[in-house]
Amino acid sequence: MELIKDAKEITLEQIQDFKGKYPKQLWYLFLSEMWERFAFYGMRGMLTIFMVEKLLLSEKEANLKYGAIQAFIYTMAFIGGFFADKILGFRKSIFWGGILMIIGSFTLAFSPEKLYYMGISFTIVGTGFFKPNISTMVGNLYKAGDPRRDAGFGLFYSGINIGALLGGYLCINIANHYSWNAAFSLAGIGMALGLGIFIFTKRTLGPIGFSPFLGKLPAAKIKTYDLMVYAGSLLVIPFILLLVSNTAYTDIFMYIVGPAALLYIIYEMFKYSKVERQKLTAALVFIIFSIFFWAFFEQAGGSLSLFARYNFHPAVMHVGNIDIPIDPNEVNNSANSLFVILLSPVFGLLWLWMSSRKMEPNTIIKFGLGFLFLSIAFYVFYYTRFFADAAGYTSLNVFTLAYLVITIGELCLSPIGLSLMTTLAPKPLHGMMMGMWFLASAYGQYAAGILGAGMSTVNEKASLTEKMMSYTEGYKQLAMYALIGGVLLVLISPVVKKLMHEVH
Ligand code: GLN
Repeated sequence: MELIKDAKEITLEQIQDFKGKYPKQLWYLFLSEMWERFAFYGMRGMLTIFMVEKLLLSEKEANLKYGAIQAFIYTMAFIGGFFADKILGFRKSIFWGGILMIIGSFTLAFSPEKLYYMGISFTIVGTGFFKPNISTMVGNLYKAGDPRRDAGFGLFYSGINIGALLGGYLCINIANHYSWNAAFSLAGIGMALGLGIFIFTKRTLGPIGFSPFLGKLPAAKIKTYDLMVYAGSLLVIPFILLLVSNTAYTDIFMYIVGPAALLYIIYEMFKYSKVERQKLTAALVFIIFSIFFWAFFEQAGGSLSLFARYNFHPAVMHVGNIDIPIDPNEVNNSANSLFVILLSPVFGLLWLWMSSRKMEPNTIIKFGLGFLFLSIAFYVFYYTRFFADAAGYTSLNVFTLAYLVITIGELCLSPIGLSLMTTLAPKPLHGMMMGMWFLASAYGQYAAGILGAGMSTVNEKASLTEKMMSYTEGYKQLAMYALIGGVLLVLISPVVKKLMHEVH
């Protein structure tokens, strides 16, 4: 309490001149984001299964719709980042996003079947305002060139995954053993905790995250602009509802938003110096590659969740005398996060150890490694078919191993990407570039749905073996394309390195 009261007058210099490895504000942002991700991944883990089992959609439709929902969520992140930079600032954006997410979760909890698309639409818009802006605030805790920034994002990424692990595990568990209503309520409670922590600790953030108009426009005018953004985002909800309930429109939406965002960024780029423009161009190269990464990686919530649901027997883990039942779906929802939490500190130490020996790979090589591990992981997913029994059930251990490998790839790319957005972009574009990073995830998610639908058999009566063959064949192809992506990155690395100037 005392600490938070004292922090009222803290300056940016005091925040950024912190001693030790992490600024203390990072821990607060870590906790808020952890609970937001709890709600988000709790819900994500339930979406596809809910649509197949309760809304009685075919697997193909559910895959497509899952991809569309995820795509809208991450597209809204671009819009949320944009409005934070231009009008609201990061604090109010996070607050507003949190409120909308809480409303979305409790709408789903109230009547999951009848109000499904309504609840999802609130969540989509809310996440857009919350997610990119809290990440940008992490970047603002550091001075340009502070070598501790990547470690900060690594820690923040662990928080994301602690939330994802708990939410992904608990929500599907509660949905299976109690009710969908209870599971969606739990997501809402998680989000309320995240927002509560943010509200309670935001005074420690000093001048970070206020409206860009502060001190430039009269307070009444700022308020009017804020209200316009709030009202506009509410007006967008029925429109999102229409798009989500009819995936046919998703294509048109996706064809428009990405190119429009890109054109807008290019327009903004011309307001900056040549060096800043080149750095932004490098950021765009990373963003474009990340689309492919996420398109493959995000099979996790779509095709891999259905593969896990039907082609694996539940298992039992023996810890001493205790037997812990393991549901393959819980493995699918949680293994990735668990491995991030375990490996993230190892990676932090590894990069530090390599840097002290002047052999730390630069960002481009890290991205290339991300693709290499992605490729190996999908080869392992493909390989599960060689462990299958006659009925089409296969090895949960091999499946889990694939998740270990894909996580190594993710750690070479995702936290580094977040950190990069705040180093390569000039300050007034931070929110937007972070949003652009997530917009790439939107395209990744969108493509993931299409890829997943392409892999699922058209015949709903197909045997388990046929389904497995169909999915694993798809995974083998993804393995090949991921490898090509990695090679391409290495080939263009000299050019990108030049564009990045002093940033490594
Ligand atoms: N797992 C990370 C998160 O939830 C990355 C998600 C993404 O960018 N697609 O923040």
